[in-house]
Amino acid sequence: MKMILSRVVPKDMASLSHSTKGSELCVWPGMRQLCLRKNLLYGFMRLFSMPFKTVRSVSRTVGGVSQFCSITNMSSSLQIELVPCLQDNYAYLLHDVGTGTVGVVDPSEAVPIIDALNRKNWNLNYILNTHHHHDHTGGNMELKERYGAKVIGSSLDKERIPGIDIALNDGDNWMFAGHEVLIMTTPGHTRGHISFYFPGSKSIFTGDTLFSLSCGKLFEGTPQQMYSSLRKIISLPDDTNVYCGHEYTLSNSKFALSIEPGNEELQSYASQVAHLRYKGLPTIPTLLKREKLCNPFLRTSSKEIRRSLNISESADDAEALGAIRRAKDNF
Ligand SMILES: [Zn+2]
Repeated sequence: MKMILSRVVPKDMASLSHSTKGSELCVWPGMRQLCLRKNLLYGFMRLFSMPFKTVRSVSRTVGGVSQFCSITNMSSSLQIELVPCLQDNYAYLLHDVGTGTVGVVDPSEAVPIIDALNRKNWNLNYILNTHHHHDHTGGNMELKERYGAKVIGSSLDKERIPGIDIALNDGDNWMFAGHEVLIMTTPGHTRGHISFYFPGSKSIFTGDTLFSLSCGKLFEGTPQQMYSSLRKIISLPDDTNVYCGHEYTLSNSKFALSIEPGNEELQSYASQVAHLRYKGLPTIPTLLKREKLCNPFLRTSSKEIRRSLNISESADDAEALGAIRRAKDNF
């Protein structure tokens, strides 16, 4: 299923976008007629019945090939498109409807991004990297050379992010075509990891810090650092959309259920995730509220999780997170 999604979606991806700024509805060139006829009515119904939510549930199989249409309805003029890359990575195109400014978050490879930009006849102005790992920066140089895009990343990783032009620090406010972007350092997975928070769009790009139902491996950080990073993220509003770097949610749900089987919210979300993945659809974005209710790394005080992993009641939350991480590494 992952292979189908990663190889087929970019070619056939089509989108409808709704902007409160211009109140405009765009049907992108290349959208297949089949997709349009079968799914447009459904898309409109969902769009207008859920005016401020992200809707993403249109798919069908044609000749054994999964076809996917994304409908993103944001509460600002910033449009966000998910672009599957490699086996299970997600890059995200950011498009300001008013100015035509385009960015990409974590392009692991260039080709799917170029294909997506070509379909829409877009240029690329910015490349935003959450961290230096190759599966988040592998497309930087080719995209930079082709489009003249500026590369943005953490000042702590100036030496490790290919082509970096703009180095940012914790708490910096960077502007993307008039949209405020708050830079949050979120170390733990790597020491220079940052997350990009767009308060106007209620969206955060968390790279490999926070996944749906998990967090990143602790390659260059301690459990305490990851705990602090996750605390920063969960201090954001509950209705924040979380865009992470990988589609790992299904396997994460199996681990989460194994250590907190009595969590009814988790049971319900795990079955939704299984259904989405069965249909070849992404589980991202997830909502921060849901993660707080279901993600074991945000639930370090759960008695059931602590019992499952023999974590003592006196252990602090960072120690508990370390124990959960070790258990997941060996799951
Ligand atoms: Zn990584």
